[in-house]
Formats: sequence, structure tokens, C-alpha cells
Amino acid sequence: MSSLRFRAVEKASNRVAKQAISPNKKTSEYFGADVFNKVAMQKHLAKETFEKINQAIRQGTAIDRALADHVAAGLRMWAMEKGATHYTHWFHPLTDGTAEKHDAFIEFDGQGGLIEELSGKLLAQQEPDASSFPSGGLRNTFEARGYSAWDPASPAFIMDNTLCIPTVFIAYTGEALDYKTPLLRAIQAVNSAATEVCHYFDQDVEKVVTNLGWEQEYFLVDDALYEARPDLALTERTLMGHESAKNQQLEDHYFGAIPPRVQSFMKDLEYYCYRLGIPVKTRHNEVAPNQFELAPIYEEANLAVDHNLLLMAVMKKIAREHDFRVLLHEKPFKGVNGSGKHNNWSLCTNKGVNLFSPGKDQEANLQFICFIANALMAVYKHNALLKASISTATNALRLGASEAPPAIISSFLGSQVSDILSKFENSSIEEAVRVDAKKKLKLGVGQIPEILLDNTDRNRTSAFAFTGNRFEFRAPGSSVNCASALIALNSAMAAQLCDFKIEVDQLIAAGKSKEEAIFERIKAYITISKPICFDGNGYSQEWQIEARKRGLDCQTSVPLIYDAYLSEQSIKMFADTKVFTHHELIARNEVKWEIYTKKIQIESRVLGDLAINHIIPVCTRYQTILMDNVMKYKQLFPEEENKENLELIREIKSNISAVRAKVVMMTESRKEANLIEEAKAKAIAYHDRVLPFLDDIRYHIDKLELIVDNELWPLPKYRELLFTR
Ligand code: ADP
Ligand code: MG
Repeated sequence: MSSLRFRAVEKASNRVAKQAISPNKKTSEYFGADVFNKVAMQKHLAKETFEKINQAIRQGTAIDRALADHVAAGLRMWAMEKGATHYTHWFHPLTDGTAEKHDAFIEFDGQGGLIEELSGKLLAQQEPDASSFPSGGLRNTFEARGYSAWDPASPAFIMDNTLCIPTVFIAYTGEALDYKTPLLRAIQAVNSAATEVCHYFDQDVEKVVTNLGWEQEYFLVDDALYEARPDLALTERTLMGHESAKNQQLEDHYFGAIPPRVQSFMKDLEYYCYRLGIPVKTRHNEVAPNQFELAPIYEEANLAVDHNLLLMAVMKKIAREHDFRVLLHEKPFKGVNGSGKHNNWSLCTNKGVNLFSPGKDQEANLQFICFIANALMAVYKHNALLKASISTATNALRLGASEAPPAIISSFLGSQVSDILSKFENSSIEEAVRVDAKKKLKLGVGQIPEILLDNTDRNRTSAFAFTGNRFEFRAPGSSVNCASALIALNSAMAAQLCDFKIEVDQLIAAGKSKEEAIFERIKAYITISKPICFDGNGYSQEWQIEARKRGLDCQTSVPLIYDAYLSEQSIKMFADTKVFTHHELIARNEVKWEIYTKKIQIESRVLGDLAINHIIPVCTRYQTILMDNVMKYKQLFPEEENKENLELIREIKSNISAVRAKVVMMTESRKEANLIEEAKAKAIAYHDRVLPFLDDIRYHIDKLELIVDNELWPLPKYRELLFTR
């Protein structure tokens, strides 16, 4: 066997589980130990500072220099007590993941020595040399001026002796260069629009908060096997590999016990998560072999997004300590399930009312139906945009492939909510809305006050499913920043709620009662948004045809899907909600197209190299062995023909020729595409003319894998990657 593969497999199969950290404490006793949370603040800040900063966080007001100085001093003391020596502004650039530049706390003391310091100015704002972050031309490289600015709503934390300060990242013109800035704007947009709408039902509502509970799926692969697969190491996915004879057919992994090595990894991961204040709650196996999931208790969306990004970084680190590599890629293995990151999304008032949860009385239920109907309208109007928000080169490999929603956004409501909506739709305003003598609202529609939602009514194939008290957006990929989906979703919802408010107010101005006006609009929305509602099998072929008939966006080319950001409708919607200017949208799409191109470019290069340097030489060697055999056979049995081996030799030859020829053609296509200047046209060229070669070449290599002597095959096979743990 190829020595590298052989050694890797041997190493991987001989590993034993490492002892996980045992904190010897209740989780609640060390939860948030590495976070500058309220407890730490109270201890390290003067009472006045503590009160002022909390007020600023609650109300989202600006923090003045004096307050920043006081907070910075306390923050540094706390961090140094915890052993931190450096600090960094931690931000989310437009590449996925996070960025940081570490600085030591030290300053000259003016006496020839050093003192430790962190000023309010350095806490509040910095100018990282950010010229190498993608900006889509928003910030000319020669100016290299991007600012990171403190987000006090997400608490600072310590990782690896570094104090990390969550920040936004903006150009000197104020335009967003990151995900956090537009996320905060979108959260604010929903807050103000939803609060206005809530006032129809409850005048005392002051604020509406967006909640997010993500579910992170991932694969684990043994470190040695990962190292022996250059495609995994360079692209995070296998660009070749024949399916294992045993795969996920038995679904035995999903119900199986978590393997001991993985359990140790999970325990350590959870320990660090708790210290960092990430409230992880559930862990389990997923459907595919070596695939797992982790989900926290949901949190306010800005914090939840930070926590997910932090989690991904911590996972990578802890996995290595357990001789694993974590694969966050959406489709590391062909033929088995991919990984997603379900975004559980809900809106909640400052009084604790979940607006997607049915209430106790009819008024509360009218509010519930009102928010559901508006959400459906938002998703219906902006289904192309929502798809664009989750589309990436890597997620495209997952969507529409084994057990993932197709590249079409639809919503599943479950039979109960569907029934309620259809009753609503079919009743007249007179029968539905009666206001009795006590000015109490009466809905003549069926059983509403008593909506007890049955949470077991699930449709796993839907991209946007209502699950009892929230919507579960299932299309986002496992590797992405959840903010992208949330920005689109929240903005669309905010714009929709604003439209609703205007329409209802117009009806009221025309003499309708508030209830009648609300009812009339909801009724209309239920009818209009019907094309987005689909309770059938989203994985089926029929749905693709049906969806097209319904006018839903069915585009599958990622570079073209991104056009949805620049449709007239989206430009207006983002401008109205003040989430993105037209200029920002243009710049961000440039970045999206560039990233798309680079991903395919790298995959194509890696595949070309592997095919020529790893695969073909081995196949040729095996072919020579067969030829020797045929010749010797001929010497012994001159009359007989060694038909089987001759056939194999020919089969190898034809596949090798195909691989060689296609690698040449792929390289040519790449060269042509590289000449294109314009980002979108280039991405389209990569999608249309380079991407197809990846599958094409793989097809022949996977055929060769089945023919060539197992002992010679150079790369760890699927059965080894997926079943060693
Ligand atoms: P599933 O059955 O889809 O695996 P879980 O019960 O594991 O669902 O929950 C998935 C996620 O949904 C968790 O992060 C949970 O905290 C979150 N979640 C539950 N209720 C809400 C809600 N009202 N708003 C947002 N997220 C929620
Ligand atoms: Mg789920």
C-alpha cells in the first residue's frame, strides 16, 4: 500500500480517546468565566461606570470618551488578572470566519520603561491595516483605511491569553466592510418596525428583539487521514473518492452512541464553550458517518452570531488537541449528507412575548397570525434574495443533493397553522371580527383562542419551516456566518412590517376599525403569499417543476443567484430599512463573485495537480503490472488470450486518457476565465466552464479507484475517512 496512506490509516485506527478535562464544578459555576460579563463588570468597574455602560448597552446610545476610558481600565485589569497579555479588535470580515490583530497591552511609561495600558480610545476604535480584507472597492487599497469600532452589546472575552473585543469593521466613509454592521442595522430595522405593529395590540411594547438559535453540523476526520488528503487540507472537501460500500444506508450512525474519542472532544469543546459563555445544550450524531451536531440555547441574534463564530474557531482548536480535524465544509463527501446550520429565528417583545407563539386569548392570537402572515409575505416577496443570502460555492454542492433542501425557498407551516390560515382566508370580515360590548375582540374563526401547536408536525425537507414558536431557516450552510441569512431575513421582515403598517393605517383613515383593517390585510397576505407555502416533499423532482410554475426563484447558478441583491426590489428594500446603500450592495456583490471564483479556481488547481501527480502515476504503475502479467501469460499459454486483464488495461488507458485530456481542457478554461476582468463575468465563466470539469474528472478517477490495486491507491478512501474514529 502507498506508504503515506498506509501509515495514516494505521495511526488513525490505533488512536485511543484522550481524557477530557474534568472541571470538578457545576457548569453554572464556571459558565462565562472568560467573559467580561455583568458579574465581572460589577467587580471591576466603579458603580457609576457600571450603571452608565449598562444603560448605554440597553438603549444603544453612544459611549463618550470618559466612559470608554473607565471601562477600558477595568477591562484591562480583569483581563490581566486572567493572564491576558494582548488584546485585539475581533471582527467579521466578508470572508467567512473572524479576523484579529493582536497588540500587547504595553506602552512606554516615559521613564524608559513600560507600563500596561489600554485606553478608552484603543478600546473604542482602531485602524487595523486592513488593505488585504475584501472590500469590493469600497475602500481603495492605497488608502487602506478601515476602522474597527467597539460593539459593547457583545461582551469582550479571553482566548489564548488575548482579550478579544467584538467590533464592527467599517470604511472611513461609514460603509460596512463586515457582517456585524449590517446585522446590527437589520436587527434595529425589525425592532422599530415590529414595535410599531405591536402597538396595534399592546401600547406598552418598547422593543422587539431578534432571537437566533443555530444548529451547527460538522464532520470529524482523523488528523493523520486529513493530512494524507491534500484535497481536504486545501479545499476542506474531497475532490475525488468512490463511495464506500457501506455508507449511511442503515442510518445506524444517527441513532448510535457517540464514539468515545468524539465524546472526549465534545466534552472539552463544551467546557471551553461554557467558559466563553456559549450556552451549548445539545450534542448528537448526525445522519452521515462521522457527522455530528451541536446546538446552544437560543440568544439575542447579535450575540448568537458572535457565539457561533467563536464556536467554529474553538472547534478547530479543540479538534486538533484530540487528533481530529473538524470539517465545517457543506459537502466534504459526495454521496452522504452535507452539513447545514439551521437558523432558528424568532421575534420577542421586551415584555417576553414571542411574536411567533400563539397566545392565551384572541387578541394575542390575532397578533400571532399577523406576524406569521407578515413573515410569509416577506419570504414570498424576497425568496430570491433569501436564497442569495445563503448561496456560496460550497453550499451549492449541498443544496439539492442528498437530504438537503433544494435551491428553492419555500415555507412549511404544519397542518394546524395551515388550517387556521385557510379559515382566516375563507371567512368574511363580519363573521371573523366582532367587537363585543366590552370592546373585546372576537374572532369568529374556529378554535383560535386555543392554539396548542403540535411540535411533532415536522417537514424536514422545507427550507423555511415553522416549528411551533419560531421559523427554522434550514438552507444556510455549515461554514457560513449566520449574519448573512439574518440580515436578509430581518430586513425583508422589517420592510414588510412597514408596508403592513402603512396599509392598515390607510384603511383606518378610510373609516375601518383597527381590527377590520388588520384582518383585511392579513387575509390578503395569506392569499398572496400562497405560492411560498409548500407542505409536500421539498426533495422531490415534482416540487422543482411546481415551484417554477408558482413563480418562485429556481436559479441554480450561484453567480446569477447573487443578482437578487441588485434587483430593483432589493435595492429599495435595503435602502428603506437603512441596512445597505446601493453602493454597499454593489461592492459586496463584487466580493461575493470574487470569493466564488477563488473557491472554484483553487479546487480546480488542486484537482488538476492530484490527478496528474498522484493518480495517473499510480494507475500507470498498476497498468504496467497487468501488462507484465499479460506478457508472461502469453509465454506460458501462447494459445490463450488473457481477456480480462487486457480489458482492464484498456479501461485504465481510456480513463487515464480522459483524465489527462480533461485536465488540459480545464486548465485552458481557467486561463480563459482568468483573462476576464469583471468580477461577475469571471464568476460566471468559472461556474459555466470550469466547475463542470470537477465532476467530470472525478468520475474517471473514481472509476480508476475501483480498478486499481487497493495496495497502490495513494489517498485514504471514503471507508477510511468516514469510519475511522
Ligand atoms: P431540532 O429538533 O430542530 O434539532 P432543537 O430543539 O434542538 O431543534 O432546537 C434547535 C434550536 O432552536 C436551539 O438552538 C433552540 O434553542 C432554538 N430555539 C428554540 N426555541 C426558539 C425560539 N423561540 N427562537 C429561536 N430559537 C429557538
Ligand atoms: Mg433543527
